[in-house]
Amino acid sequence: MDTRVPLSELEDGVPFADRHIGPRPADLERMLATIRASSLEELADTAVPDSIRDREPVATTLPPGASESVVLAELRALAARNTVTVPMIGLGYSGTTTPAVIRRHVLENPAWYTAYTPYQPEISQGRLEALLTFQTTVADLTGLPVAGASLLDEATAAAEAMTLLRRAGRASSPRFVVDADTLPRTLDVLRTRAEPLGIELVVADLAAGLPEGEFYGVLLSYPGASGAVRDIGPVIAAAHERGALAAVAADLLALTLLTPPGELGADAVLGTTQRFGVPLGFGGPHAGYLSVHQKHARQLPGRLVGLSRDSDGNPALRLALQTREQHIRREKATSNICTAQVLLAVVAACYAVHHGPDGLRRIAQRTHRMAAVLAAGLRSGGVEVLHGEFFDTVQVRVPGRAEALADAAHDAGISLRRVDADTLGLACSEVTTTAHLRTLWEVFGVEVGEVAGLDAETADALPAGLLRTSDYLTHPVFHEHRSETSLMRWLRRLADADLALDRTMIPLGSCTMKLNAAAEMEPITWPEFADLHPFAPRADAAGTLELIADLERWLAELTGYAAVSLQPNAGSQGEFAGLLAIAAYHRSRGESHRDVCLIPASAHGTNAASAVMAGMRVVVVATGPTGDVDLDDLRAKIAEHRGALAALMITYPSTHGVYEAAVREICDAVHEAGGQVYVDGANLNALVGLARPGAFGGDVSHMNLHKTFCIPHGGGGPGVGPVAVAEHLAPFLPDRGEVGAVSGAPHGSPGVLPISWAYVRLMGPEGLRRATLTAVLAANYVAARLREHYPVLYAGADGHVAHECILDLRGITKDTGVSVDDVAKRLADYGLHAPTMSFPVAGTLMVEPTESEDLAEIDRFVDAMIGIRAEIARVASGEWPVEDNPLRNAPHTAASLVAKWDHPYPAELAGYPTGAVPGVHDRKVWPPVRRVDGAHGDRNLVCSCPPVEAFAEGR
Ligand SMILES: *Cc1c(COP(=O)(O)O)cnc(C)c1O
Repeated sequence: MDTRVPLSELEDGVPFADRHIGPRPADLERMLATIRASSLEELADTAVPDSIRDREPVATTLPPGASESVVLAELRALAARNTVTVPMIGLGYSGTTTPAVIRRHVLENPAWYTAYTPYQPEISQGRLEALLTFQTTVADLTGLPVAGASLLDEATAAAEAMTLLRRAGRASSPRFVVDADTLPRTLDVLRTRAEPLGIELVVADLAAGLPEGEFYGVLLSYPGASGAVRDIGPVIAAAHERGALAAVAADLLALTLLTPPGELGADAVLGTTQRFGVPLGFGGPHAGYLSVHQKHARQLPGRLVGLSRDSDGNPALRLALQTREQHIRREKATSNICTAQVLLAVVAACYAVHHGPDGLRRIAQRTHRMAAVLAAGLRSGGVEVLHGEFFDTVQVRVPGRAEALADAAHDAGISLRRVDADTLGLACSEVTTTAHLRTLWEVFGVEVGEVAGLDAETADALPAGLLRTSDYLTHPVFHEHRSETSLMRWLRRLADADLALDRTMIPLGSCTMKLNAAAEMEPITWPEFADLHPFAPRADAAGTLELIADLERWLAELTGYAAVSLQPNAGSQGEFAGLLAIAAYHRSRGESHRDVCLIPASAHGTNAASAVMAGMRVVVVATGPTGDVDLDDLRAKIAEHRGALAALMITYPSTHGVYEAAVREICDAVHEAGGQVYVDGANLNALVGLARPGAFGGDVSHMNLHKTFCIPHGGGGPGVGPVAVAEHLAPFLPDRGEVGAVSGAPHGSPGVLPISWAYVRLMGPEGLRRATLTAVLAANYVAARLREHYPVLYAGADGHVAHECILDLRGITKDTGVSVDDVAKRLADYGLHAPTMSFPVAGTLMVEPTESEDLAEIDRFVDAMIGIRAEIARVASGEWPVEDNPLRNAPHTAASLVAKWDHPYPAELAGYPTGAVPGVHDRKVWPPVRRVDGAHGDRNLVCSCPPVEAFAEGR
């Protein structure tokens, strides 16, 4: 027998698309049969309206899919084109070491990076505890008691503080005073955010006193961008005296040594937690932070983790004050933040736990000593050091020589900040060594003998009156895990409390929880990508810049637009950038009066919040009984606001999971009235390779790379929300002339872009298209199997859904009293994650299986839902009371089953739901807490690690 197979067939191994896509060919046949379609192509023909389909293959520069080894080799080649230097540029980004135990057990661990935002607290206690630790770290170090866990970077945190002070204060003035010694990018983002809201920025040197006239707030930096540490207390007091509030941008590491702004009277403190072990990544992702005085707690934007109790009275965590969330508040929302930087906040929290207060203080002291000794050496050689008091950054005056000295330092492997032709900034950090100091002295032509001798002669350069006296990080969590064994087990215990994609499918509609492949993830921790400073010389980032250019081009081609900016750090930020582009476009044509933004009632809450931030008036368009935009209402609203129409924001396919056939008509009507069309691209997983928003009527879209393009959700971030625009809007993308910056770093979060680059490169255009078709098939399969058990709310003209489907429980709830909550929590007993609850329609569950799930896993979910339906029937029949049944009491902890049992159903059924669900017994996951009482926690807001006694009392 001839066993030979031609080499050409063996060379490339299994195509990656076959690994990314879950169902095998035989499974596809079964799924197609279930929905009565003969092929994926036929499904595409019937489900996707003809009017938007790409009929001809679209010209593309996307290369065909390649194997993992080929793509990783290409990424290695790109990485090799980057040059990593010792980062001493500062500007809010510091060298740091990610402890290996945290890199390996958190950053590179799918139990952490594949989790979703902790909306289902019973199966999210681990990341909630990590985030509470983050909040405690920030609160303790800044000296203000309430810190959230949702800020995207320092610059946008400053913008959030700017608007928070305006809401929280009593002053009516629209002026906001910003100290001149503020990070330049922070100033840029403040300008972008202030303008549409009518906030007037006044930049002034506050060391010389507050400006004349009224203002509602001030922003100080501590230390300043120049490195100088000034006593901010008197300025804060003076601002308070004049009826204004004060925010302070502060360096968390410096605060281990300096009096915290909270003790100096600040109302809000903000910044970045990057230097707590989070790689530079050419600018991100990093978690920003914002802490406030207790009285402003309810003004905090985004998510806040708080302590509450479960139905057995045990302490349990959950997101506090959830009614402030965007999808509920919509145009009344105070911020549009949705996806944040959870994974990076977890890393920062772990860094604080790993080092503890003493370790952090040591790192701060070392950093400071390096700077003090560096400055002393430079001074001894006659170099003019500009500030006497600083923490880690030394600014020097070198008339006419800044460029030459920076170049020489760069040649020696160190990057400095070029402030201007006469000034350089030298920022020390955790990674600075005395060898680096020596190199710098040499570059500056300074002779220094023994470093030890210089060190002994040199005093600290911290202001004596501002040395910290208060304790911080006193909670046991910051003391108990000094050994790596202990830390490893703490991390494992937390991860085990959570359900992430590494244990079960997460069928969250609108969130596209699909595979984050290991090969896609691997490059992000390669030092050539991870250790680049965002303001390194461009030539040092040649590889990353090429990767960015590729990805921008590929995304533009896949969406049918002319240009893409990767700067926005989440979908919400992409929306804001897109709407700013529209506003600037109208302004450029002398039509700045166009300010009405039409938004369908079914839209994601960020849409309306972003429109308000962009200075637009939101007008809601009704949704018809079929779930589509109500065309009559749309026409009426267009007619009513014709002269003022700026834009329509429409999600496609709709948030109802349907390909609306009339979308072209809708776009035409808006254009005809002089408006622009914003297509929310969060649901792009139903379009890639089939249709392009830029080709069917959109002028601008954002994408969520953390949905369609495989960046993991990280427990609620990082995200990347590229904004894509048609030719006429290209000049209005962020930072390209007309419109300013929307994120702190010029390219947003390049540190995670290798993931999406790898995904597109691995799949190729054919693989991407197949992924889309399989995702649509999977959603239709779920709908077909569940339809007889739960009504499926909406479908297109041909009866198909798009890539997700909505199960309508409202009738069931009305008839039986069993709610969507009960079903969601019961799924946890089955070891499954709930679908999206009550969005976009209250009382429903939205299911999105994605292309990555095997048929067996999809069936496990469907069978669980059918099993739950049978349980509901037993409530309906009166066998179990509405108030005491396995659904209402779900989820069940192991402890609750062995406690005294007095329920009308057996404990075994509670913990091991039987019926036709294979894999429940052998894959049992015990939720660590019973159902969490959110209202109790909101009444008694506790948002930092409680003393251990609180846990003792609860029991
Ligand atoms: C997820 C989502 C958004 C917001 O994206 P973030 O990255 O979370 O800010 C906007 N619109 C829709 C339809 C979404 O599903």
